[in-house]
Amino acid sequence: MFPDTSVLEKGIIIKSTGSRYRVLHGEGLVTECIIKGIFRTRDLKTTNPVAVGDMVEFEFDERSEGGVITEVLDRRNYILRKSSNLSKQSQIIAANIDCVFLMITIIMPETPVEFIDRFLVTAEAYRIPACIIINKTDLYGKNELGRMEDLIKMYNNIGYRCFPVSLVENTGLDALREDMKNKTSLLSGNSGVGKSSLLNVLNPALNLKTGDISGYHKQGKHITTFPEMHSMPFGGYVIDTPGIRGFGVVDMERNEIYHFFPEIFRISHNCRFYNCLHLDEPGCAVRKAVEKGEINTLRYRSYINILEDENSKYR
Ligand code: GDP
Ligand code: ZN
Repeated sequence: MFPDTSVLEKGIIIKSTGSRYRVLHGEGLVTECIIKGIFRTRDLKTTNPVAVGDMVEFEFDERSEGGVITEVLDRRNYILRKSSNLSKQSQIIAANIDCVFLMITIIMPETPVEFIDRFLVTAEAYRIPACIIINKTDLYGKNELGRMEDLIKMYNNIGYRCFPVSLVENTGLDALREDMKNKTSLLSGNSGVGKSSLLNVLNPALNLKTGDISGYHKQGKHITTFPEMHSMPFGGYVIDTPGIRGFGVVDMERNEIYHFFPEIFRISHNCRFYNCLHLDEPGCAVRKAVEKGEINTLRYRSYINILEDENSKYR
């Protein structure tokens, strides 16, 4: 008989490939783990029982230097996406997130305001603080800088912080590092905005592949990538979500969508009807605020478009 060499350890999942999990524990040790069979079926609604950011307990086997996860500790929060369009199952993208950062660009490529707003609505629905990183400021002329300032003003007024940066000119990064310090952040954004480039700047040891925008179309859609959590030299973690476009998985009731537009929600208390959807109801304080310029038309338009999408689901 071999002596029993398993030791119970606590750690955090930094990568999951569906069947294997990389766990960070102790003073920077990394152990490859699997999970017990019974454990896998405990939560039927999600396809993955363990996700990046999860705190776990595992049995470390000194002989094999591998581990078996025995317990997932309670999650503070998590972000989901649907496994496929047809499936009712969802996949947990990441758990225990302090802040989600959406990286956008004014040009090359242009990020539409509605895309930003859909992201922010989802973050609100998950009750996770959201910030916006505006990259490639080195490319902006007067016109683009003006659009950037307008966006910053609009989002700051609502309560979302914005970080204009250029990875080429190395500007704006200290403020970002300061903000990410000792937190678990999730980085999201369209292909080509500069997410991998940012991670490489924040942690040069990562050496992630970056590409030009045209290269992304050639790659095709069949490459499976998994979210990964990277340690930052200034303290904290950043979760990279390559290939994950959006998180639009929160099931929202039509009449609660405006709850996730903080500035619309605040004003909605003054609407005449408690069930006002802020379309063309009499006595709608939101419509009045849009007309007076107190609520930005772009934001109101995003709200209407999201509402119409939800409507079409019921037709
Ligand atoms: P990702 O798809 O979001 O990971 O984007 P990448 O990091 O691969 O970057 C896409 C392209 O944008 C690459 O060619 C980068 O060199 C370029 N890029 C990234 N940051 C900047 C920046 O601040 N300014 C300029 N001009 N180009 C950038
Ligand atoms: Zn209203």
